[in-house]
Parts: sequence; C-alpha cells; structure tokens
Amino acid sequence: MELLAGKKAMIFGIANKHSIAWGIAQELHAHGAEIGLSYAIPKLERRVMPLAESLGISFVERCDVTVDAEIEAIFAQAADHFGQIDILVHSIAFAGRDELSGRFLETSRQGFQNALEISAFSLVALSKAALPIMNPGGSIMTMTYYASEKVVPYYNVMAVAKAALETSVRYLAYDLGPEAIRVNAISAGPIKTLSAGGIADFRKMLRYTEERTPMRRNVNQEEVGQTAVWLASDLSSAVTGEIIHVDAGYHILGMPEPPDTWS
Ligand code: NAD
Repeated sequence: MELLAGKKAMIFGIANKHSIAWGIAQELHAHGAEIGLSYAIPKLERRVMPLAESLGISFVERCDVTVDAEIEAIFAQAADHFGQIDILVHSIAFAGRDELSGRFLETSRQGFQNALEISAFSLVALSKAALPIMNPGGSIMTMTYYASEKVVPYYNVMAVAKAALETSVRYLAYDLGPEAIRVNAISAGPIKTLSAGGIADFRKMLRYTEERTPMRRNVNQEEVGQTAVWLASDLSSAVTGEIIHVDAGYHILGMPEPPDTWS
C-alpha cells in the first residue's frame, strides 16, 4: 500500500549507505513519497549521488546547516523543484570526537556550542525555512537518542544536545500545531553509522544493548525508516510533540539484569 503517494519529502543528513537518513529515504520511497536529499559537505557527494540514482532521486543538494544562506538557498531550490512539500526529515548531529570520550566535565565551550548548534538548533532553522513551502497536514521529524533521558557513558555533550532537540520538538509542535504541521522525534537504539563511530567503545555498547533489550537484539535503519513512514503518513495524523522509541524496548529498563546474575 502506498501510504505516502503524492507526498513530497526533504531529507537532511545523508552521508553514506549506513546513514539512518538513507534507511528513511528508502522506506519513504517504497511507500510512494517523492524525495529530495541533502548532504553536508562536498566530499560526501560521491557517496550520496549513487544512492540517489538508485532510487531515481533527482533533487540532491548540499547544505551545511551552520550557514543560514545555505539553508535559505536549498529551500528556494526545493520550492522551484517541488512547489510545496509534506515531509521534513532532520537526521543531523555532530560533536567533536574528543567530546565523546572521557568526562562530560571536560566539555569545551566551543565543543558545547558546535554540538548544540548543529544537532539541535538546526532543527529549528530547517523547520522555519521549510514552513513557507509546507502543506497543512505536513510532518517534521528528527532523530534522537535515549542518552537525553538517562546517563549513557561517553555521550556527554551529545546527550545534552539531544535533550535540547527533544524540547525543541515540543516547542515546535506547539507553534506549528495551529498550522496543522506535526513535529516528532524518533529515539533510535544504537546503530553502527559514521557518526556513531565517533563515540568511544561504540561496538561494546552495541553488544551490551543487544544482550539486554527486552527483545534481545539491536534495531536497524530499515526499522527506523518504517516508523518514519508512519510519522510521515496520515495514519499518525493526531500525533505531535512525541518522542517515539524504536529501540527494541531498551528505554523501559530500570535495572537490566536480575539480581541472581550479579557477582
Ligand atoms: P550519520 O553520520 O550517517 O548522519 C549524521 C549526519 O549529520 C551526516 O550526514 C552528517 O553529514 C550530518 N551533518 C553533520 N554536520 C552537519 C552540518 N553542519 N550540516 C549538515 N549536515 C551535517 O549518522 P546517523 O547515525 O545516521 O545519524 C543521524 C541521526 O540519528 C543523528 O541525529 C544521530 O544522533 C541520530 N541517532 C543515531 C543513532 C545511532 O546509534 N547511529 C541512535 C539514535 C539517534
């Protein structure tokens, strides 16, 4: 069933075939959406173009979300190409490698500012720029992680950025509700991607969650993409301001192991 037939989506945050944004692009496309892709820096072009071609996507533009003029330019191009759009996917985050190991206490002023600007403020900036070309009934979504809610070692400033992002989702949902535009976040379990590789001991984290989630497994890009389809579609027409966990249930755990396994 083509849940998204006739809908047009702008997807930000594709770096390569492992990106969550690519998992979302494939699923939105499979459900009938017309898609535009955006990547951050010139050197990603050679990875992104073949992916776009594989789905017949002709709108592929570069946009660094720290530059207002680039945000303005890409939505002007999107207006020319699509007219109006229905779906905005924000799948962008950045923190320096040295901020994602060791103690949170050591976070630098510049590292804090960069992480918050790129990973949280950019949702506000993209939403504002998209608004003039978004149809009523539109859906905006972003990607977050459980480290915003509870301490996850080494997430450090990225966890703070995700908390800001989630609160931004609620305030944007409040602002845009009267215009019939919904804003939500997907809180995905850990997935091996380029960004995730920057977090110290990420492989061990994958193993840890796999062994302890209620479903005893990790999640993948496709499963995040399927939830994105639901959020983008009219099936979720009254859902806004939500943080939807796609994490095989990890977030419900208080104490993952029973006492009889303690040493
Ligand atoms: P990824 O590296 O594939 O995607 C991150 C994207 O952010 C990249 O495409 C990168 O180019 C882009 N980006 C960074 N700085 C930018 C800038 N200045 N302008 C424009 N784009 C910029 O990794 P991913 O894991 O797919 O991350 C996508 C989102 O999912 C992020 O918000 C991440 O925090 C979130 N997330 C990831 C996981 C995980 O375990 N991989 C779990 C939960 C949430």
